[in-house]
Amino acid sequence: MRAVVVRAHGDVDRLVFEERPVPEPGPHQVLVRVAAAALNHLDIWVRRGIPGHPFPLPLVPGSDFAGVVERVGDGVQGLRPGDRVAGNPGHSCGACEACLSGRDPFCRDYGILGEDRDGACADYVAVGAANLNSVPPGMSLTEAAAVPLVFLTAWSMVVRRARVRPGETVLVLAAGSGVGHAAVQIARLWGARVLATVGGAAKAERARALGADEVIDHTRDDVLERVKGLTGRRGVDVVVEHVGAATWETSLRCLARGGRLVTCGATSGYEASTDLRLVFFKGLSILGSTMGAKGDLHEIWRHVAAGRLRPVVDRVYPLDAIREAHRHLEAREHFGKVVLDMGGRSS
Ligand SMILES: [Zn+2]
Repeated sequence: MRAVVVRAHGDVDRLVFEERPVPEPGPHQVLVRVAAAALNHLDIWVRRGIPGHPFPLPLVPGSDFAGVVERVGDGVQGLRPGDRVAGNPGHSCGACEACLSGRDPFCRDYGILGEDRDGACADYVAVGAANLNSVPPGMSLTEAAAVPLVFLTAWSMVVRRARVRPGETVLVLAAGSGVGHAAVQIARLWGARVLATVGGAAKAERARALGADEVIDHTRDDVLERVKGLTGRRGVDVVVEHVGAATWETSLRCLARGGRLVTCGATSGYEASTDLRLVFFKGLSILGSTMGAKGDLHEIWRHVAAGRLRPVVDRVYPLDAIREAHRHLEAREHFGKVVLDMGGRSS
């Protein structure tokens, strides 16, 4: 089968194609013929490398995928060849206290497909049956591949960690990003008033179409002043942060007294300074979040099937053009998800 492999970190030319044997599904595993794989910022980290974080190279990248069940291993129930499925990228032991209490990202064996083991930028991938969800009828596999990682991450942030309630005001940073566009929809679903930041007028229009009540163009507006203006100078109850160094201080200042900041990433850099006076005088909570519980994806897929949550596919590239797809994602011109099509099987 074709597989994209990262043998050494670096620029997009480090994404090389190799012939690999089709993986064998072990007990409780399922072999999936991949139809589409969605890119995440994680794919860029895997390719570029992160100082001090060893990746097990050579590695097939790709965390998010959707496809068709090809074959099931021993002990798999409820899935048959031909079923349309999407993967949950988070793997864990399934038996420890963290796993059994719905906190599987805290499992000592937790890992992400395409980060600690070979991923989905290939014709086939074998994963645990517990890591697959059915794709709703009528939804393309291209769209389905765009759901798992970002919707699970955003759900965990908005619902589990920040516990957004109806009537609260939520500021979502970078609503055009994968996590951002999911967080806007989830915060709306939970009854919040949503303020969203974007870069540029075209993205502002798209953020409104997603359901953002107010959109702030950070290339033109002062985000803090606009948030104050839109909240009667009170600030927001929750900030959904994933940008990091470039926005951190402003995000803290945008919070109302007693507000919560929830963060899942730092695409602009992870060294930010915090004025601790804000934290104690305003009674702020700073909440970390990474990925999410396997069980939550079942709830997320029900909302997707009902049309209450919907991934936005920005652009689809053939797998052969994976280097261009990485460049497009890095240029931050996208709105929503960038997806790789494996060739003619994605409808
Ligand atoms: Zn575990």
